[in-house]
Formats: sequence, structure tokens, C-alpha cells
Amino acid sequence: MPSKKLILALIDGLTPATLEAAVEGDHAPTLSVLAENGRYSRAVTVFPSLTPVCVSSIVTGAHPDVHRIPHLVWYHRGQRRLVEYGSSFGAIRRAGTRQAIRDAIFNMNGEHLAPEALTMFESLADAGLTPAAVNIPCYRGRTRHRTTIPGVTRVALAPERFFFYSLFESDATGAPLAVRNRAGGTVDDYAAAVGRWLVTRDGFDFLAYYLSDYDYLSHALGPDAGGEGIARADRALGALVEAAGGADEFLDRYAVIVCSDHGQTRVDHAARLQEPLRDVGGIVVTASNRAGMIYRLGSCRLETPELAALLDGDASVDVVAYLDGDSVVVRLDGQEIDPQELEHPDAAARLRAALRNPNAGDLLVSAATGVEFADLAGRHHAGGGSHGSLVKGDSEVPVLLVGVDGDARSVVDVAPLVLDHFGVAARVPAHA
Ligand SMILES: [Zn+2]
Repeated sequence: MPSKKLILALIDGLTPATLEAAVEGDHAPTLSVLAENGRYSRAVTVFPSLTPVCVSSIVTGAHPDVHRIPHLVWYHRGQRRLVEYGSSFGAIRRAGTRQAIRDAIFNMNGEHLAPEALTMFESLADAGLTPAAVNIPCYRGRTRHRTTIPGVTRVALAPERFFFYSLFESDATGAPLAVRNRAGGTVDDYAAAVGRWLVTRDGFDFLAYYLSDYDYLSHALGPDAGGEGIARADRALGALVEAAGGADEFLDRYAVIVCSDHGQTRVDHAARLQEPLRDVGGIVVTASNRAGMIYRLGSCRLETPELAALLDGDASVDVVAYLDGDSVVVRLDGQEIDPQELEHPDAAARLRAALRNPNAGDLLVSAATGVEFADLAGRHHAGGGSHGSLVKGDSEVPVLLVGVDGDARSVVDVAPLVLDHFGVAARVPAHA
């Protein structure tokens, strides 16, 4: 057993630039204290750079070819239906509200996430430790939990201490949640109330503390307006420090990792990825934020390279990629290029892992700078911020390590750091 317990603070959508500016500018006092006591670097996330994919990689230490979560919205070939984890309320309605809620709350963890991609919660529980999680969307663990939703009897396997937007509450903490007042900051306030309760009782060995308000505000206001979002995240972290009795006591008790799942870039206009393909039958297009996928059904008469060529010259499209046997084929500006020539961070390896996900489309599309693909309901964040693409701004994340050995160059390095901290052997399977 190491001398310190560990808190993983995951601030959804936090860009390295915002964290760096906040720490220098002194308007994020708790993050500043952590930065003074830790080591900071930038890391790269997986593709598509969207929360379900990225958080699954953080929690399992695996790329999407292994954990099998392909996108925020995807086509389930086995069940011949769309899976929509929550691009927007409109998209949830279009996908069928009950189904979308089941997919986001239960099926992503219970069915879609590959069983062989062990989560850090499973590995820590197997080692006899007590994992806890607040609001994290990839939560699979070893303890059975019943939801607080009246009439729903289905159980979820999650960490021993498990809190999820008040839909699951392993312990009565008294934390309030008003989901409707999202702009008022109540989601991170809920996390803070639960976190305070957990720290006060010293009720965990490892805590995954997921803060989502930053991403929400950054979508609405744009990535340069991160001040209020990071202030909320800082307050939520400050609540943990306060519960421990101050910064010295907190740092004596806990090692900390602060990171995010993806970045954000400014988007000025929206496009429908379906548009250049409108005359093609037998395909399903799933698009959301700054990434899209195209699935060929049995009835499609065009081969994948022909579909890719139809996107040539479309101003909303940056990179189009597909597999030819085991090789990644990339089209850029209407031409095939060597994936290694792409200037986006670690693009060739990230495309390969995304394409080898058995749930991914036949064709993957990364949006052009400043463009967002409208979702199922036509919703988008034009005028605000978005993410999902291969570009650096969507793909780079900050990593701050306090009292944790090692380094993270990719988000998949976070799980091994956590397991190493506790001396637990990582059991990440080889690539699929
Ligand atoms: Zn987002």
C-alpha cells in the first residue's frame, strides 16, 4: 500500500492553454497550489476526441480498438440501430429518448465497453482497494448498484462508492442536484458536495472526480472563454482541499492527477456530413461535434474508396480515413497521402486505433478547422466551441501529476500511472 491515496480529477474539455493561463494568472487558487507541488506536461488524446471515447481510454488505458467505444453516436451493426450517448437533447429525442438514456446510463458500460479492457476500478477492486467515482461516464467496476430512478430494477456494475448525477448514489451524502439549472453550475456543485463527503470520511483509496461544467460552458461560449468554467472546476477541487483541512493536510493524504479528456477549438459554422452523400443508398452517417463516421450496409453499391472520393473538395471535411486490409488509407485535399505525413499530433497511430475499433464506421472523417458536423437533430455549437477532430487544439490535454511517479504522453498512460501508484499490475490486453 502506498502512503497516499490518489485522486484523479478529470476536467472535461479543459485545454492546456486555459490551465496554463489560469495557474499563471492566479484565478484558480487550488489548481495553482497543485501546480506548485506537481509536474506539468501536455499529452495527446485518442480519436475521435469525444468524451465517451477519450474517458474510456483514460479509465482502461486502452485505445479505442481495444475498448470498442467508437464515438458519441454510432451504428450498432449487430442490433441495426443507432447508439446516441447524448450529443444534444434533440439528438437524444431523435434516437429515442428511452433508448438513448439506457445507452448512456447502462449500455455503454454494461454492453458496449469491451469486457477484456479492464477499467482501473476493476483492477483496484480486484487488488482489495476501495475505488470511488463521481459522475464519470466510463465507470465499470465490481460492485452492483441499483439506480435511484423509481421503477428501474436494472443494476449497474460500478466502483464500490459510486455517484452518478444522483441517478446512482451508493451512500446518502445529502448532495443536491438540479439538472435543469445546468448553466447555474449545479453539476460541479453536486460533484463537490459528494467529494467533500468522501474526503471527510476518508472513504476511498482511489477517487475519480469528473467535472463537466467546463466543457459545457466552453461549447456554449467558445474555448477562449474558459474563465468561469475553470473557476467552477477550481472551486470543486477546493472543496476537497477544504474537507481535508487545508492544502498541507490534503497533500499529505493524497496524490493527485489533474487532466482532461480532450481539448476544444472554436467553431464558426455547421455542416451536414450527410449532404455530399445524399444520393448514396445503403449507408448510415453518424456525425456529432467535429467527427463523423460512415457505415456501409449490405445494400450499398459503392465501395469504401468510392465513398471517400465523394467527400473530395467538401470544405467541411479535413481528413478522411479507412482501412485497406491492414493499412490505413488517408485522403486529404482530394488526394491519398501517407498517414505519416499528417501534421496532426500522432495522427497515423490514432487513426489506426480508431479504424480498428469493430464498432467504428468504414470511413472516419475529421472536420475542417472551424467546422462542426450537425448531429441527428441538426444541433451544433457554431459560434462556440467543439472538439472531436484530429487537430492539435481538439487533441491536446493538460496533465498535472502531484505525488505520482512516471509520465503521461497520451491519455492511455493515465491508467498505468494510477495502477503503478498502488503497485497493482496493469492488465491491458494487446491491441485487437
Ligand atoms: Zn464536449
